[in-house]
Amino acid sequence: MSDEAFRLYVCPCCFTADLAPGVCSECGHTRAECDPGDPNNPCRKPPMDAAGNITSRAPLWWLMRSAPYLRKKIEQQTNP
Ligand SMILES: [Zn+2]
Repeated sequence: MSDEAFRLYVCPCCFTADLAPGVCSECGHTRAECDPGDPNNPCRKPPMDAAGNITSRAPLWWLMRSAPYLRKKIEQQTNP
């Protein structure tokens, strides 16, 4: 196994993913670099509130990349 961090490149429009940067073959948008972390990283899970209810269907790593304002809100919810 490599120590290098696993990187994904995801289209912000249609969510087509690839292992290399570039332009989405489906819709032509530039794919955004995302870091989903290692397999046990909590950022791979969806965000939850204090009661354990899932607050988004998207994994945390995607929300952190695509919506920084949501990241702050989620951190406030998960670290009260
Ligand atoms: Zn696309």
